[in-house]
Amino acid sequence: MTTLASDPNTRRSTNGNASYDTERRSKRTGLGGVPAAQHAPPPQEQIIQMMVSFWTSRALWAAARLRLADYVEAGATTPAELAAATGTHEPSLRRLLRALVAAGIFSTDPHGRLAQTPLSATLRSGAAGSLRATVDSVLGGEHYDAWGGLLHSLRTGQTAFDQIFAEGVWSYYSRHDEPGSRFDAAMTEATATFVPQVLEACDYSSIERLVDVAGGEGELLASVLARYPSMAGVLFDLPPVAQTAYRRMEARGLSPRCTVVGGDMFDSVPAGADAYQLKWILHDWDDDRCVRILRNIHGAMAPGGKVLAIESVVPAGDDPSFAKLGDLNMLVMTGGRERTEAEFRALYDRAGFELTRVVPTTGPLSIIEGVRHGE
Ligand code: SAH
Repeated sequence: MTTLASDPNTRRSTNGNASYDTERRSKRTGLGGVPAAQHAPPPQEQIIQMMVSFWTSRALWAAARLRLADYVEAGATTPAELAAATGTHEPSLRRLLRALVAAGIFSTDPHGRLAQTPLSATLRSGAAGSLRATVDSVLGGEHYDAWGGLLHSLRTGQTAFDQIFAEGVWSYYSRHDEPGSRFDAAMTEATATFVPQVLEACDYSSIERLVDVAGGEGELLASVLARYPSMAGVLFDLPPVAQTAYRRMEARGLSPRCTVVGGDMFDSVPAGADAYQLKWILHDWDDDRCVRILRNIHGAMAPGGKVLAIESVVPAGDDPSFAKLGDLNMLVMTGGRERTEAEFRALYDRAGFELTRVVPTTGPLSIIEGVRHGE
């Protein structure tokens, strides 16, 4: 769902760690890399690198959860100060810090004081480009537990989350404030990362009124409205999320042009707009549920309108892609799936839309545009 996998080229190693070059090489051949057959490390080395990337992920999560980057920013730069600030066991925290520094998350000076690096800076709460809440939500909490149920999903086809928590993820987030708010903040951060790419790829200039269906806290819609000053917007999401979205739209001065509506998209969506966008929504649901959402949009749309789904499209072939791993996240978390272009076309068709084009962005997302059949 996010650019959590750090680009090896942006990593900083301050201590000449001997495994650094090995890791760079094997990253290129790992799940997120490009095959480079002739220079590939031995298979065992590649498997071990894939295996220990789980430890890196969990160390990264601990850094985010403990807000280490915030404390370093505020001047707590020794392990003792950080242990006191975070209520952790200093000798154990030192071990975490050593592993983080080796991965380029923080650096140390000769006296062992921690300093921010470009990677650790992304873990500062609320900073521009922050991914702290995203790392906290996606590598921890319910996500972590749901991935623990991967085999259950593989054996039964059921959503691991539902088995573990005895309810679906959206109902769970609506009823549990803390993880719910953490997830919403994670979506806002991750979406902010991709907004410039979407705005660059998608020309919204012909749209007068845009509904963002299940638009979360409104990050994408707010950015679109800011870019197109004569456009009106409607942010639609479940009532608890819509409440936060309303406050955020107000704080950004967009209330006069943006209506915020709480509701259930399986019942209906706000009517009369000439465009409906859904970002990271269709991948949350199985085909039948997607068709229901799309049919509601079909019925609500003004004549000549269009639907814009913003998703990762699974590419043909065996090359690595964000969507192929994200698809497993959907399997365990939501019961949805990532889809190929042909699968999106079939979904649109069933709901009465013709898929008119797929516009790639420079990142992992594409805009999948559709119009009603016969329009
Ligand atoms: N579009 C946003 C949020 C994606 S997360 C973004 O890309 O950042 C999925 C969103 O679907 C959440 O905000 C969740 O609250 C919303 N959602 C889930 N079930 C819904 C329903 N039945 N009706 C409306 N919104 C729903």
